[in-house]
Amino acid sequence: MVLAKPDNQNVLQAFSLKGKVAAITGGSRGIGLEVSRGLAEAGADVAVIYNSSKDAEAVAAEIASANGVKCRAYQAEVKDQEAIEAVLNQIAKDFGKLDIVVANAGIASHYAAEDITVDQWREIMKVNLDGAFWTAQAAGRIFKRQGFGNIIFTASVSAILVNTPQRQSVYNSSKSGLVMLAKCLSVEWVDFCRVNCVSPGFIATDMLSVHPQEWRDKWFGMIPAQRLCDPYELKGAYVFLASDASSYMTGANLVIDGAYSLP
Ligand code: NAP
Repeated sequence: MVLAKPDNQNVLQAFSLKGKVAAITGGSRGIGLEVSRGLAEAGADVAVIYNSSKDAEAVAAEIASANGVKCRAYQAEVKDQEAIEAVLNQIAKDFGKLDIVVANAGIASHYAAEDITVDQWREIMKVNLDGAFWTAQAAGRIFKRQGFGNIIFTASVSAILVNTPQRQSVYNSSKSGLVMLAKCLSVEWVDFCRVNCVSPGFIATDMLSVHPQEWRDKWFGMIPAQRLCDPYELKGAYVFLASDASSYMTGANLVIDGAYSLP
């Protein structure tokens, strides 16, 4: 088997997700919400997977009516392998198939390396790396049965550089592991799905809003773009990776960071 090859088609048709079914973890707020919206705007039916959000059902209803697609909310804790597998199987059953899984759920925290406790280390790893793997594994099992599929991880620019002044060795290690995981899966599963990463820089979501102004001022001096990224500015990249427009792209890490990683 070789990497799937779609027919040559009009480029805008190649970007279309009409007829596709997508599931997004962390899909009801922040970056994941804009990914859910973007994939629906491109024509996909969407399953928004949330954990603790209270408004996921309302978010799904809004996406469905704004785009004329099917959109439903599903609850799952990504740390729980059985829970995320059950929910992805349920989505495939409810929608008839599954084409795209975005493993986006993640948490951040800042600890001095010398002070990190066992529980603090494990919590981040369990969500960001283990959780992404359980999500991808469950997707991979479905995709292998179907013979097609597409996985996109939300990694981070922190996978390839060390942010300052915050100290986040655990977070950075979890995201770096994710980029390597995507590479491994892209090779292992080349005959039935593509696997890529998006690595955002500083994105204006709840994850960043907890940081002190002093840190933000320092960041602006380090980002050539001189501003934060709004989450909607990422959705086109996810549509690209989810669509036939990127059919030869697998194992890649798309860094979207306003040139933060360059100087
Ligand atoms: P956010 O607004 O804090 O959203 C985090 C999302 O992850 C929420 O939807 C949350 O779902 C979900 N989540 C967290 N823990 C979960 C768990 N145990 N099980 C299932 N879902 C869980 O953060 P964000 O900025 O959108 O982050 C999304 C992804 O982008 C993360 O992987 C993050 O590391 C990455 N990223 C963010 C930035 C940035 O600057 N913001 C930069 C690079 C990478 P509920 O609300 O339902 O609990």
